[in-house]
Amino acid sequence: MLIKEAEVYGVGCADLRVENGKVTAIGHLVPRSGERVLDLQGGAALPGLNDHHIHLMAYAASLESVSCGPPKVHGPEQLIEALGSASPNQAGWIRGIGYHESVAGDLNRCWLDRHLPGVPIRVQHRSGRLWVVNGAGLKRLARSGVDGALPAHDEGRFHDQDEALGKLWGRTPPSVGAASDRLASYGVTGLTDLTPQNDDTAAARFEGLRSNGSLRQAIRVGGVLRMNHRLTGPTKVHLHDSAFPDFDGLCDLIRASRARHREVAVHCVTEAELVFTLAAFREAGACPGDRIEHASITPPALLSQLRELRLLVVTQPHFIAERGDAYRRDLTSAEQSWLYRCRGFLDRGIPLAGGSDAPFGHADPWRAMRAAVTRQTASAGILGEGERLTPEEALSLFLGALDEPHKPRRIAVGEAADLCLLDRPWGQARVRLDSACVRATVQNGKIIYDSMREPEIRRTGMAAPMVAG
Ligand SMILES: [Zn+2]
Repeated sequence: MLIKEAEVYGVGCADLRVENGKVTAIGHLVPRSGERVLDLQGGAALPGLNDHHIHLMAYAASLESVSCGPPKVHGPEQLIEALGSASPNQAGWIRGIGYHESVAGDLNRCWLDRHLPGVPIRVQHRSGRLWVVNGAGLKRLARSGVDGALPAHDEGRFHDQDEALGKLWGRTPPSVGAASDRLASYGVTGLTDLTPQNDDTAAARFEGLRSNGSLRQAIRVGGVLRMNHRLTGPTKVHLHDSAFPDFDGLCDLIRASRARHREVAVHCVTEAELVFTLAAFREAGACPGDRIEHASITPPALLSQLRELRLLVVTQPHFIAERGDAYRRDLTSAEQSWLYRCRGFLDRGIPLAGGSDAPFGHADPWRAMRAAVTRQTASAGILGEGERLTPEEALSLFLGALDEPHKPRRIAVGEAADLCLLDRPWGQARVRLDSACVRATVQNGKIIYDSMREPEIRRTGMAAPMVAG
């Protein structure tokens, strides 16, 4: 394939030849007979974007789910409309997510049956800890379980029963194709899935999705300690402020990962989690590639510790846009200035990369870039003005390789042909930072998204669940 008249990022105007998954020539090039030509007409050619923190299966499931709470749904009528107009997923369920009491009080089976009889419906509270199931759904659960397997519930309300319920409604894998298409339309060519439960079975499933063509992005899979699959990424450690693991246990886990030549990625959304984690890295030793996921609140003293330990931070600046108004209400002004920092990390030489955390954050990396540049909340308030990045620095958050997230890739002869092609020069795209500018996406030399061909794959808004993953 020949990509004509590209503005090659960091190089200048040139044509690009792509063969066997690689860029094989850059310069003034003449099409060969029969060669496919994509004329960019001066549009920018960027390295394909890599999302360094996503939960792909949950994201795919969210696309097949109905948003049942704010900001989309605010009252009973809207809830009935949203669930009533949805079509069941492959397994025959209508799956609602993000419910909050402000919509229709303490939802139960009777309410659902009164307004939405017939099709099995299950609605998850936005805390992630409660499912409410209607009568048709309960019947179906009772049928699919062996005698007595239906967990205890009160009027169709199941608290903390995910494990048992998962077995009953069957872990029908959501269709990954639609999620992958959506990501391709944003210019995304690579993913790191950091779901804590990922194991060799999950990695093999992702590999299968790659080989059958449903998953169009390259993928690296972080997860539990005992993984040997060739896609294995970092060991993922998920901390909960309310129940810290044993400190020595965390140190042992870091050492055991090291023995397996694996990096460690620790989820830190509170200051306490970050303090705890930094102490463990200090004790057990940190290696290049060890990462802090989110680093949501980083006071100045912890910046210097991060620097000393040479830890990499994978951040989600779009949470400023998506949740910033709640942060402005709930956090002290000092905490607000330490929130999802960007400039503060770069100025101290702390390696920084970006990830969507979808479905908990929006999957579009351009929204994250925009938030990193503007620091603007939904109501146009500003959070952490001093943490602003330039558009080029914001873009760099998504240009790193999957195994070296903080080192921006370049388009060069011999490099993989993973490309995000824009419909305009970077000078125009940098002031918009909008995925609507993506003209086409190339992964491993193949076009996985072409806006001219697939105008229907558009970036409709998706309400993110409110719990951080
Ligand atoms: Zn996450």
